[in-house]
Amino acid sequence: MGYKTLIGLEIHVELMTKKKIFCNCKNEFGGEVNTHVCPVCLGLPGALPVMDKEALEFGIRAGIAFNSEIEKEVRTDRKNYFYPDLTKGYQISQADLPLCKGGHLDIEIEDGVKRINLERIHIEEDTGKQLHTEDGTSLLDFNRCGVPLIEIVTKPDINSAEEARLFLEKLRSTIKYIGISDVRMEEGSLRCDVNINVIHDEKKIKSRITEVKNLNSFRSAVKAIEYEEKRHKELLEKGENTDNETRRWDENLNETVIMRRKFGASDYRFANEGDLPAIKIEDTWLHEIKENLPELPHEKKVRFMVEYSLGHYEADVLTGSRELAAFFEEIYKHVNDSKLLSNWVMGDVLRRLKEEDMEIEALHVSPKDLADLILMVKDGKINNNTGKKVLRDMFESGKSPEIIVKEQGLIQISDEGALEEMVERILDANPQSIEDYKNGKDRAIGFLMGQIMKETKGKANPQMVNKMLLDKISLR
Ligand code: ZN
Ligand code: MN
Repeated sequence: MGYKTLIGLEIHVELMTKKKIFCNCKNEFGGEVNTHVCPVCLGLPGALPVMDKEALEFGIRAGIAFNSEIEKEVRTDRKNYFYPDLTKGYQISQADLPLCKGGHLDIEIEDGVKRINLERIHIEEDTGKQLHTEDGTSLLDFNRCGVPLIEIVTKPDINSAEEARLFLEKLRSTIKYIGISDVRMEEGSLRCDVNINVIHDEKKIKSRITEVKNLNSFRSAVKAIEYEEKRHKELLEKGENTDNETRRWDENLNETVIMRRKFGASDYRFANEGDLPAIKIEDTWLHEIKENLPELPHEKKVRFMVEYSLGHYEADVLTGSRELAAFFEEIYKHVNDSKLLSNWVMGDVLRRLKEEDMEIEALHVSPKDLADLILMVKDGKINNNTGKKVLRDMFESGKSPEIIVKEQGLIQISDEGALEEMVERILDANPQSIEDYKNGKDRAIGFLMGQIMKETKGKANPQMVNKMLLDKISLR
């Protein structure tokens, strides 16, 4: 056994509530600077916070979705900071009594399902934004100040960059499912910090935990983890060690650089937020929130496995987003063949989405049109290769498969007489191929098939042609 990597993640998610967490200002991304502000979120003296019920509800939804234990009484604490974009001088957060305790999220890794345990989920407020201009001036925008956040903290159960990526993707899709955030990393509504160290059991050495802050894409999270993993191992191999420090990922240098020595919890001087009374969570309300949650990803996955007889992996991919799952189920109503359908969706459709870097919602092809196409192939109206070609056309033009097939005259030729005549003719013209085939060169059949496909512009029924070629060669 060599080195083992231990990774814990802290993920901040901006909640898409209507209002900010402690005041009545609008919670909106991209508004004109400093227009969604008031004495409360600007931290003016004497202003008092009031907890937004929707923010609390969204936090509870997350707790339910991630199988956490929901606290019966919500308390908040002041976390002292000096930051120019946090005018109160402290952030209202939660210290030792988070809204949600524990919990877990399962990811699908190569050798099966792996459970990543959560430490906690707590609620807190976001800070404003600093804009640093080229002439060296810094500007402050307080629109984001007081936007509700949940912070999800995992246990150090993640052991590689790939597992971290799978976890983040699963987490993002789960949050999207329960409708509490738009989870747009590019707009900062999902931000990730990485805590990492490595241990070597036999050599009895381990590195000190370093933190890499504010990773704003899954790609940079993966790169930062790989970089740190290597740096930690190299230092240990030299007999040195890492420091407990906070670093950031530099996109241009492609490396992590030090920001500051790590703060300990005591540096924040946590103290109870006396301006906000403790809030009791009534069982009836909790129950109501549970009842109104949509089917969760892991529930949907299990249902897909049972209802459509799909494997773990297929069910996991197909329930990756609510929209993709709905797309699959809508087509299934027409096609009624889950194996065939999952092949088309997991193959051609998902490949297309990946190539174009888009979500299923942006696809031009309706479930009904894709169902029609699959049925045309299934019923032998067009062959499989033509089907794939038609689908590519559908992606481009958004036209229905019937129209494309009609316009381009793609109906499969399954007319026995016509094919027979053609096969005889091709065989007559290629005696060498017959000879080759009889001498054990199986490839000769491929060549002959190619000739027929060329003549029919790919429309011949391949199974019929193949059989005819073999039958007729054996007679010659
Ligand atoms: Zn406000
Ligand atoms: Mn935080």
